[in-house]
Amino acid sequence: MDFRLTEREELLRKSTREFAESEIAPRIGAMEETGDYPVDLLQPMAKLGITGIIAPPDLEGVGLGYLARTIVLEELARVCAAVPMGIQVHHMAIAALNDFGTEEQKKKYIPLLAKGETMGCVAVTEPSGGSDVLGMQTSAVLKGDTWVLNGRKCFITNSHTSDFWVVIARTGEGPKGLSAFIVDKDAPGAKTGRVEHKVGLRGSNTGELVFDNCEIPRGNLLGQEGGGLGVALKTVSESGRTGMAAVALGILQACYEEAAKFASERVLYGKPIAALQAINFYVAEIYTDLDICRLLCYRASWMKDQNLRFDTESAMAKSYTCEAAVRSAKKAIEIHGGYGILQEYKVQRLWRDAMVTISAGGTGEIGKVVVGRAALAPFQKRG
Ligand SMILES: Cc1cc2nc3c(=O)[nH]c(=O)nc-3n(C[C@H](O)[C@H](O)[C@H](O)COP(=O)(O)OP(=O)(O)OC[C@H]3O[C@@H](n4cnc5c(N)ncnc54)[C@H](O)[C@@H]3O)c2cc1C
Repeated sequence: MDFRLTEREELLRKSTREFAESEIAPRIGAMEETGDYPVDLLQPMAKLGITGIIAPPDLEGVGLGYLARTIVLEELARVCAAVPMGIQVHHMAIAALNDFGTEEQKKKYIPLLAKGETMGCVAVTEPSGGSDVLGMQTSAVLKGDTWVLNGRKCFITNSHTSDFWVVIARTGEGPKGLSAFIVDKDAPGAKTGRVEHKVGLRGSNTGELVFDNCEIPRGNLLGQEGGGLGVALKTVSESGRTGMAAVALGILQACYEEAAKFASERVLYGKPIAALQAINFYVAEIYTDLDICRLLCYRASWMKDQNLRFDTESAMAKSYTCEAAVRSAKKAIEIHGGYGILQEYKVQRLWRDAMVTISAGGTGEIGKVVVGRAALAPFQKRG
């Protein structure tokens, strides 16, 4: 087994890190204050290959795949997790269009996303409950050559920064009664609703989409009629969970750096507090979680690049890494003593950001439902 990254992947890490430190870090204060996503950074990120990293080269992407994507998301999140939060969902939209779109749909929409001319969004969740996908109520009815959508989506990342949305709606009964659509934000009856003010990932845009007799052309069906559950599950499981896990991984890396730095610099009893065994153990635990999570995240992305089935591995990477980011951020705060809860110190933001990763992209519990199913399968009786 060879765990080394290629020279190209290391270069990508370096260029993304430099970009994040020079272009994103100075914007964090404003993002925290306003909650606005820095959309003007999309074009520079497109130049670095970040927006189109999983898009095919013949559609203006760079086609570097999922391991490369995990590396760039991790590096962006090390500096500010709100930015890659928007980007990982943007990648989900590219994946949905690429996996299920017609040639015409791919040519129309993927280059715009790959070039960073707009952001992508995938709308599944509704007020009736995100985990209960089959409970969704947004309807789509075909009238002549027009689909008419009615309903409301909530908690949608990039809701207000996207020019078009991938939307799952009900076209019939049961699991085969869901279908996916591409909805232009200017379609008659399409509206954005409220913007959520979150405790963490503040600079990422999360909001509502509203469909009030929204009319879209028949040709905007994405995939087969009745295939919407498949679009949602594949997109969330493959690009959603790996993307969210990569963002949490970057938060974990930052927790480690902040914890180790503070423990080495803060002097008590005439010595750095790193000399205290309790503090030393905290750093060791964060460092170990970081390593476990990096292996989980890289393996899941690598499996996608090898065309292997990896739904269990992506769920494991997502639920474990997001929880590890929360517990590591808590330990990093504790190492900082009273300073940990001051706004000038980064660790409190890391904890707030980590908390938001838990339910985004499917909750930790739902991730464990997927993992538990795989873990128990060999021991379950048939029938
Ligand atoms: C920052 C952020 C960004 C998001 N972006 C998007 C997006 O771009 N697109 C999108 O469609 N959605 C998005 N979501 C929504 C997200 O997918 C949902 O929040 C998530 O699926 C949970 O849905 P819910 O919040 O309605 O909680 P519920 O589904 O109501 O769950 C409530 C609780 O019950 C638990 N639970 C539910 N079912 C089970 C079960 N079977 N077994 C055990 N426990 C269970 C949950 O784990 C949770 O603890 C985002 C959410 C956040 C916070």
